[in-house]
Amino acid sequence: MLIDAHCHLDLAAFDDDRDEVISNAKAVGVDHFVIPATTRAGWSNVLALGSRGDISVCVGLHPYFISEHREQDLAALEQLIIQLLAHRRVVAVGECGVDGRFKDTLDKQWHYFDAQLNLAKQYELPVVIHCVNANDQVGKRLRQLVLPRGGLIHAFSGSYEQAEAFLKLGYTLGLGGAVTYERAQRLRRVVARLPDDSFVLETDSPDMPLCGFQGQRNEPGRVAKVCEVVAALRHQSAEEVAALSSANAVRLFNLAIE
Ligand SMILES: [Zn+2]
Repeated sequence: MLIDAHCHLDLAAFDDDRDEVISNAKAVGVDHFVIPATTRAGWSNVLALGSRGDISVCVGLHPYFISEHREQDLAALEQLIIQLLAHRRVVAVGECGVDGRFKDTLDKQWHYFDAQLNLAKQYELPVVIHCVNANDQVGKRLRQLVLPRGGLIHAFSGSYEQAEAFLKLGYTLGLGGAVTYERAQRLRRVVARLPDDSFVLETDSPDMPLCGFQGQRNEPGRVAKVCEVVAALRHQSAEEVAALSSANAVRLFNLAIE
């Protein structure tokens, strides 16, 4: 069994063929999907998908959509978390984080990120973190805050030292399409050395296409390809990497998989 630990199946890119995309993924052994939210307007779509037994959901406010977020969305997010927790219908807070490429909005990004880290801490949920060009600053913040359940550093692409720092704090690293590019030499060396209990596999569909699929919509079924590449880099079998990454995802998100 494989789990896509981070995919945006709720987005409009899948509106025409969502069921087909899910069955194509299942045909290659991907049986469970974790969907992080992006904006308040999108929470209802994410939650609707979460009523399926093969999909688990997270709720949060993504830094990429910072211009859409309003201060009152944070209070709404807290209320939603309380409601969902009562029925065990949420597995994490996120996607939240900091994207250093968008320098103009960094203060606002940190404001929403900090607020969501505090919600994760208060409600004892893991957090799903989008962290681009900000590994050291985010690591520092996580060290200060000490979240009880840790979380996922989604699409990790830093150095081995940065990986170690996150692992020491109890976080799990998300490995996706980036590892399939031969030019990603540093990341590939990191992946080869990671401990067995430190990573999950993900696609970030519809974004982050794999090598060979540039320009196309990414799909959760391609987590099988990510698994093959990670296995080759680690000199393990694909079956072993599938089992390890699935067990890590189940533990991280406390997934109830039937
Ligand atoms: Zn994402």
